[in-house]
Amino acid sequence: MNGTKLVKNAKNLSLIAVISFSVSAVLCAFIITVTSANKINIERLKIEQLIQEKSAKINEIMAKSLYKTQSLLVIVQGNNLDAFDLLAPSLMDDPSILNIHLAPDGIISNVYPMADNEYFIGRNLFGGNPGSKESVQARDSGELVLSGPLALSNGIQFLAGRLPVYTENGGAGRKFWGIVSIVLKHPQVFYDADLGILTALGYSYELWRINPDTNERQVIVSDYKHGNITTRYIEKPVHILNAEWNFKVAPFQPWYAYPENIVYILVSIFICFFIFFILQNNFDLKLMHTSLEQMAITDPLTGIYNRRHFMEVVQIDIAKSQRLKKNAYILIFDIDKFKKINDTYGHTVGDMVLIELTMRIKANIRTYDLFARYGGEEFIIYTSDISSVTVYEMAERLRLSLFDKKFEVDNLNLTVSASFGVAHVRDYDLKNGIRRADEALYTAKKNGRNCVFFNSKG
Ligand code: GH3
Ligand code: MG
Ligand code: MG
Repeated sequence: MNGTKLVKNAKNLSLIAVISFSVSAVLCAFIITVTSANKINIERLKIEQLIQEKSAKINEIMAKSLYKTQSLLVIVQGNNLDAFDLLAPSLMDDPSILNIHLAPDGIISNVYPMADNEYFIGRNLFGGNPGSKESVQARDSGELVLSGPLALSNGIQFLAGRLPVYTENGGAGRKFWGIVSIVLKHPQVFYDADLGILTALGYSYELWRINPDTNERQVIVSDYKHGNITTRYIEKPVHILNAEWNFKVAPFQPWYAYPENIVYILVSIFICFFIFFILQNNFDLKLMHTSLEQMAITDPLTGIYNRRHFMEVVQIDIAKSQRLKKNAYILIFDIDKFKKINDTYGHTVGDMVLIELTMRIKANIRTYDLFARYGGEEFIIYTSDISSVTVYEMAERLRLSLFDKKFEVDNLNLTVSASFGVAHVRDYDLKNGIRRADEALYTAKKNGRNCVFFNSKG
């Protein structure tokens, strides 16, 4: 019985272990969240800084080439168009410049170098061609405007700095002359910006704009090595000359691909389970200990004290009674003809009788009386602070509690009686008290059983 109890107890979960597990899990999750949030913030700052650096670099590259349009402005305003062929080669100092051209009234008339750029001649910058809206913007604002990237039907892609030129028109004020442009090769112009460093640092990037001709999103340069940017990105508007572009950057590693995150999670799980197992183990040991302790002091069949424990606790109680000068008594009782019950109905029925008897006796003694199984079908009670008359009455009451009402066990109605021997524990000598109670029991048996005998002899 205790064996199964032990196994059952071992399966019980310790509330403290479960609570500690949950608390540590929440705590670990909180720490991981805070650390990750912190890391994400640091990453954001890093990305923002990279965006700023790269935007500044692109702006610098564009400005360096495109401000050369100012030299073209000078020759136009000086009405010195012939100087174009002399000036243009000196402006072609960067391999990313595709060509330089003049477009009086928006129609390209002069291109340098002419070789491979002939198709630019005659192009109308306002004629509804791609980039014409930016030409209009340049004309209307009077400022240098970055146009593009634009793609020609021959596959050539370029960016162009369009500078509007206004000339003095005598007393009639300024007159729009046309546009001077420097055309940059796309995407070669971005090479110097070294955007590849973003990829090397673990980021995907995309530089895009809304194409004014189509009102659609147009990707200018990007690195899609790791798929489209969909999550955890940072997007900032960047102003390159008078163009409004957007820079979008995102780490291409998913959060769980960072080894430290996996380590944090594994360590947390380990800690949580470690705490749980330590506490659960402790709980199981305590349960087992309690159970073993219980086993050591109780009788497995009836659950009342066993003889050894009875002797221990009674010794302590007797010392107390001695100090308080209270009377102490021992009652021993033995079931009458119990062998017959066993022989007639079997051992199991006998066991049930022992259990029922225990319950009846327990219900008829005081809580501070000590009751134990002394041997097979022999029981012992220690009672103190009671008169000899009362103890006799108590023994009678107990005897009748068994005999007056039949035992209903296993669909049987059995008459059970017991014989009682009672003795005063003289001089607080327990052993002597028990011996004399035993003698009294023997006499009770001799007197015909189902009776109480009080030992008044020394
Ligand atoms: P009496 O005491 O009236 O003289 O007769 P008795 O038949 O009760 O006496 P005896 O000591 O000869 O028999 C006691 C029996 O109790 C013997 C034993 O088999 C039985 N017994 C002892 N312990 C247990 C137990 O735990 N369960 C059962 N079922 N029987 C037990
Ligand atoms: Mg007996
Ligand atoms: Mg016996």
